[in-house]
Amino acid sequence: MPVSRSILPSATDLGVDEYRQVANMTEHNAIAQLGADVLRQQALPVDDFDCPEFRTTLAAMQRLMMAGNGVGIAAPQVHHARQIIIVASRPGSRYPHAPLMAPLVMVNPVYQVIDATVVTDWEGCLSVPGIRARVPRYQSVEVSFQNESGEHCQCVLDGFPARVFQHEYDHLLGLVFLDRVESNRDIIAETEFLKQREQA
Ligand SMILES: [Zn+2]
Repeated sequence: MPVSRSILPSATDLGVDEYRQVANMTEHNAIAQLGADVLRQQALPVDDFDCPEFRTTLAAMQRLMMAGNGVGIAAPQVHHARQIIIVASRPGSRYPHAPLMAPLVMVNPVYQVIDATVVTDWEGCLSVPGIRARVPRYQSVEVSFQNESGEHCQCVLDGFPARVFQHEYDHLLGLVFLDRVESNRDIIAETEFLKQREQA
C-alpha cells in the first residue's frame, strides 16, 4: 500500500521560513468551511494597518470573494480571526438581483440599527456551500468602521447591502447564517433553491 504523502513539502524539504510561506499560501487559497474552528472564534480587532499579515489577509479576501462569486466575505473565512469584512453587493450568478455598489472594506466595524423592521430573505455562504436559508435581518443599519488605511468612516446601509453586512458581521462573532434561522424548514439545498427561482 503506498504511503500517503502530504501535498505540502515538509519542513525538512524547505527552510522553516519558506515552509511557513508555502503553508500560508495554501491556506489563503481556500475558504474555511463550516466545522473549521476559526469560524467559531471571536475575531480580534486590527490595530496595525501596515503589517504584512493585514495586507495578505485583505488580498486573500478580495481574491476568494471574487472567485466564489460572493457579495461579501469576512476575515475568519480566510482563516484569520480578525475584524475585517468586505461588503460588495453586485448582481451575479448567486444573487442576480443584488444592487451594484463599490466594494466596502470595513475594519473593526460596529453598527446600530436605523430601521428595526425585520425582513426575512434567502442567504448563502461561501463557507457553507450547497445550502441556502431564509434569515431574518434588520432593514437598515449605520456602520462605523475604519477603512483599509485606518481612517474612521461611517455609512448607512439599507436592504440587501445591510443584509450582507449583518451576515459578515456575524462571522466576526463566530456565528454563521444557519445560527439565525428560525426553523430548520427554512434551510434548503442550493440546487432546489435555483430550481424554485427559475420556476418563479
Ligand atoms: Zn458567510
